[in-house]
Amino acid sequence: MTKAQKAHYDKVARLGCSLCRFVLKIEDTPTEIHHIRRAGKRVDAPVIGLCPIHHRGSNTGVHGLGRSAWESLYSTTEEELLSMTLEIL
Ligand SMILES: [Zn+2]
Ligand SMILES: [Zn+2]
Repeated sequence: MTKAQKAHYDKVARLGCSLCRFVLKIEDTPTEIHHIRRAGKRVDAPVIGLCPIHHRGSNTGVHGLGRSAWESLYSTTEEELLSMTLEIL
């Protein structure tokens, strides 16, 4: 990871969970970095912050549910959360 990338991840993490913040209107939840999968290398993937519940929870997390079930459960998409994140960064 480059220094610039690390700095970017830190900034994203400081915003808290993007789903909590933008959809549930809860701020400052503990945050993990989630890579949004697109074509190409993982290292170049865009990232959003997600709390452990929305990241890894088996019935609540993007990795537990799978991307499309997770997106329909919360009526949002990873890409939407990404653009809102980048807007306030
Ligand atoms: Zn959350
Ligand atoms: Zn993830």
